[in-house]
Amino acid sequence: MKSLREALAWAEKNQVAIGHFNISDSEGFKAVVEAAKELGVPVIIGVSEGERAFIGLQEVVSLVKIARGNGLDVFVNADHTYSMEKARAAIDAGMDSVIIDEAGKPLEENIKLTKEIVDYARSRTKGRTLSIDSQGSTLVEGELGFIGVSSKVLEKLPDGVSQDSQTKPEDAKRFVEETGIDLFAPSVGNVHGLVKSGQPKLNIERIKALREAVKVPLVLHGGSGISDEDFLSAIAAGIRVIHINTELRLAYKEGIAEGLKSGEIAPYKFMETGVEEMKKVVRERLRLFNKL
Ligand SMILES: [Zn+2]
Repeated sequence: MKSLREALAWAEKNQVAIGHFNISDSEGFKAVVEAAKELGVPVIIGVSEGERAFIGLQEVVSLVKIARGNGLDVFVNADHTYSMEKARAAIDAGMDSVIIDEAGKPLEENIKLTKEIVDYARSRTKGRTLSIDSQGSTLVEGELGFIGVSSKVLEKLPDGVSQDSQTKPEDAKRFVEETGIDLFAPSVGNVHGLVKSGQPKLNIERIKALREAVKVPLVLHGGSGISDEDFLSAIAAGIRVIHINTELRLAYKEGIAEGLKSGEIAPYKFMETGVEEMKKVVRERLRLFNKL
C-alpha cells in the first residue's frame, strides 16, 4: 500500500479497521510502528495540535517517511485541528490526512470551514515536494456531532454528550456531500477520554444508518475503554479507522514509572518499559481491529 487511500480501500475490502494511535515522541512512534510491523498490518500515527508541537511537524513526517521507506504501511494523521492555519500547515508538511474539527460550531459554519480545508488540500495536490502520499494529496477528515475534547480519565460523561448529540444520518449526508471530505468522524455513543463511571455503549444501528447515508469511510474516535464486543460490532457496521489515545498514555506513564524505580539513569533503559507497555496496548488493539 502506497497511500492512506489505498489502505482504507484494503480495510473496506477485508472488513477490518485500521488502528490509529496518538503519540507525543519518538518512543511512542517506536512502540506503535514495532507492534504494527510484528503483526504485518497498516497503522496510523496520530498527532494532535499539542502532540505535533512537541514532536515537531517535520520531524514526525520524516519518521513516517523512513518507516515507509522500510516497506511499512505507516501513515500520519494531523488529529483534531481547531485552527485553519494549523490545518494548512499540516497539509503543506505532506501529512497523509488532517482532521479539521469544527464540530463545536453550528452545521452551516462547520460545512463552510471544513470545505475551505478540503479545497486547500486539493489545491496543494500538484507541485509540492514534501508529499509522502503517492497520489500527492492529504486526505481531509471532518467531524459532526459532539464527543468531548479530552484524552484524560474522566469522572463522568462530558457535558453536552447524550443520545441527542449523536450524528443524524441526514445531517451527515449533507455534511459529507457539501464539504467533499474523504473521511467522516460521527458521534455514535463514543466519547473522548476514559470515563470512570463506565464508557457509554456504541449505537451500532446509528453506525449502520450513517454507513448507508455517506459514501466515505467512517472513523471512530474515543476508542479507549470501549468493549471488544462493541468494537467488533462497530467494524461489522462499517467503521474503518479506530482512534486510541488515553489508554496508550496511561500505559506509557505507568511503564516509565516502573522503569524509574530501578534507579537506572540511562534513558534508553528506563524508557524501555514505557515502550513495552505501549506495545502491549497497540498489539492487543491491532489484533482485535484486524481480526488476527
Ligand atoms: Zn478524536
